[in-house]
This record gives sequence, C-alpha cells and structure tokens, in this order.
Amino acid sequence: MQIKNHYLKKACTWLLPFTCILCSHPSKRNQDLCDPCLESLPRLKQGCLCCAIPLAFSPTGLLCGQCIQKTPPFDVTHALFSYELPITKLILELKFTQALANARLLGELLATEILQTWYKTKPLPQAIIPIPLHPTRLKERGFNQALEIARPVSKILNLPINRTDCHRNKLTTPQSTLLAAERHKNVKGAFNLTGNFTGQHVVVIDDVITTGSTMTEFCKVLRQHGAQRIDVWCCARVG
Ligand SMILES: [Zn+2]
Ligand SMILES: [Zn+2]
Repeated sequence: MQIKNHYLKKACTWLLPFTCILCSHPSKRNQDLCDPCLESLPRLKQGCLCCAIPLAFSPTGLLCGQCIQKTPPFDVTHALFSYELPITKLILELKFTQALANARLLGELLATEILQTWYKTKPLPQAIIPIPLHPTRLKERGFNQALEIARPVSKILNLPINRTDCHRNKLTTPQSTLLAAERHKNVKGAFNLTGNFTGQHVVVIDDVITTGSTMTEFCKVLRQHGAQRIDVWCCARVG
C-alpha cells in the first residue's frame, strides 16, 4: 500500500504541479513555492547567537547587549526570516484565515535550513515543543499555529513532538497590543508544565518572536523542570 501511495504521489506531482502560495504560478519544485519567490524571501542575517536579534555591527559569534546583561533561559535561537512581507502575510493568513498550507510551507522551509545549515555539524534536539496556546485561544482559532509549523519539521527530521506536557493556563492579553515593557508582566506565570525534562535537549518552536518575552517565560519554566539544553526555532524574528 505504501509503495502504491509513493507512486501515486509521484504521478500526482507530475500531473498536478505544485502551485506557488505567493504568486499562484506553477512551482517546478516539490513545494507550494516557486524558485523566484523562494529567492526573494527576507532571510534573517546571523544576529545575536542567543536570541537572534539582528545586530547593527555583526561579526559572527557575538551576543547582543541584552543577552550579555541577562542570560536568557534558552541556549540558542535560530530564526529563518525577518518579520516583513511576504512572511507577515503568510503568518497572518495562517493565524486568521486558517491557511494551514502556509504552516506546512513554513515548516518545510525551517526543516531544510535545520538540516542544511543550522544543525549540519551539531546534534539535533531530542524533542520538539510547540509553544502552547491557551485552550480558549485554541477554541477560537481551531488550531495552534506553532504545532502546525512543527508537524512537517517533526516528519522531515524524524523528531517527536511533545504536545502533552506543556500547558498555557493563563489567558493573557495578546502581546501585540502591549508595549515591550508590559509584555514580560503579561506572560508571567502563563505556563504550567506537567512533564519532567531532566537532562533533556529540547527545542521550542514558535511562528514569530517579537520581544522574546513569551519565549523567555516559557523556557524559564522548562529550565525549572530540568531541561538541560533549550534551542529555539522560529519562522520569523522582529528586528
Ligand atoms: Zn511564486
Ligand atoms: Zn541576544
């Protein structure tokens, strides 16, 4: 059955070529994104080694002032794109019009970068943790975008997704409506973990990192539950 599916898949690719999500032209690649659109995406240049914020003067291997002042609870952040068009469009459509194909595409692009660049010479984490959504938000949206992005990554890298041990128990005001200074207070105590992560190397996935307050709070709790090494993967980073 599996072989049949495999050939069926190949035949479908040939008969029904992929269509680019961004320009609607047929894609010659096995993905909903054509070559010119792939080339035009706003890749994020290597920034701070810990939080990935772009640095004005950035010889590689440097930390930003904030990470030097206060060591974040995560070890490294890998961010693929700068949060600007057309990435903003892909992410907003995903969240607010249920464009789940966008999550698949973003996850596939992340997985390619992870394998070909970020983790070419270092070991992959043991498990993927999509940053949890509060049950009320989950009900409103119908899905957790971080989990939807994590699915193709998990499949391609053959890594398990931990979706049972981490919970968001405080319904917070959307961070996007708050000033940077208020964001930290808003997410404080928002997460509750039931699992034991002692000695584990995990990665947390989110769609966008803005000030990093949510990620910092979540990773702090993960660290308190024993995680030894915490990597962060995100599709886009606000500079
Ligand atoms: Zn295109
Ligand atoms: Zn930093």
